[in-house]
Amino acid sequence: MKKQILTTLVFLGIIIPAITAQTTSENPYADSYIYWDYLAAYKSGQATVAFNNIDAMLQTYPPQKEIAMPRELALVSLDQLLHDTDNDQTETFYTFINTRMMRVLKDLDRPVEKGLRIYKLYNDGFIIKSKKATVAIDLIPGGSNAKPFIKDSIIYGIAGKCDALFISHWHADHANLNIAKSFAARGKRVIAPKGLWENVDPMIQPLTEHIETDIKFDDLDLTLHVLPGHQGDVLNNINVVEFHGEGTVAQTGDQWGTDDLKWIDHVNEKYDIDVLMPNCWINNMKRHLVGFGPKMIITGHENELGEHSIDHREAYWMTIKKMELLSDLNMPYVLMTWGEWYDYQR
Ligand SMILES: [Zn+2]
Ligand SMILES: [Zn+2]
Repeated sequence: MKKQILTTLVFLGIIIPAITAQTTSENPYADSYIYWDYLAAYKSGQATVAFNNIDAMLQTYPPQKEIAMPRELALVSLDQLLHDTDNDQTETFYTFINTRMMRVLKDLDRPVEKGLRIYKLYNDGFIIKSKKATVAIDLIPGGSNAKPFIKDSIIYGIAGKCDALFISHWHADHANLNIAKSFAARGKRVIAPKGLWENVDPMIQPLTEHIETDIKFDDLDLTLHVLPGHQGDVLNNINVVEFHGEGTVAQTGDQWGTDDLKWIDHVNEKYDIDVLMPNCWINNMKRHLVGFGPKMIITGHENELGEHSIDHREAYWMTIKKMELLSDLNMPYVLMTWGEWYDYQR
């Protein structure tokens, strides 16, 4: 009898909390970090701690040519979080990315005396700031129109601090018409590929031909050289921005085409490129690096969230491995994530 009572009590001890867990939406032990039976809450709690630690670690170990092991670990941990689709739409993720973009917004007020300051943004977005000009390439808020990754107040604040916008191609992870219009409304020029946003606004200027084109910005003391690249059949402007006397950068958009390699092989003969920003998954990374012949590399387009399955989100650890394979080129590269910047001087 005693044994029977004991068995019943043990049974109730197991079953009752389990039933309670299923029927109670709020975890009564959340304040003491006990998550038994609350699996989603556990994962969310873990992601919050991880995102916060990664953010702190990346600030302690900022971008540099020789990546420090704690920084590498932080980026690989970020890969893990960003390849777990449960984190895609969470407040924790939005807080992480907006906190980092807010830092960019603030830092854009800090003058650059010499050389170039290069900011990395979501997704393949870059801002390059010299003493005289601040230029954005492929600046987007990310996410959907209904719920963008980066809050309007932050992304439009960032756009407001830039003097010109260059767009590689029409895909939504690179081109956003509302952002382009915000430039145009301030009298800032937007240079887009042929066929994109024609007759929208006089300040939004798609190329008339998909050919090598030089566009001068005398007021900004820079020249934009557009090279006619492709992503398959899609016209893809490779934007080579020459900041006179300070440095030249090239951003490749979503370059992916073997025919273009014939002329890309010779880009280094015409342009003295300081910093190349290739899409991290570009076809034949080695040939592009040799063709452009930059003094250093900052890859872009890692961890694109949304459209693709996780095998094509492109992790930071994959860039590290790809660059290890090309170590014989002796081209320094700096691995950056959203909301970071690097000061380049010749
Ligand atoms: Zn694309
Ligand atoms: Zn893309």
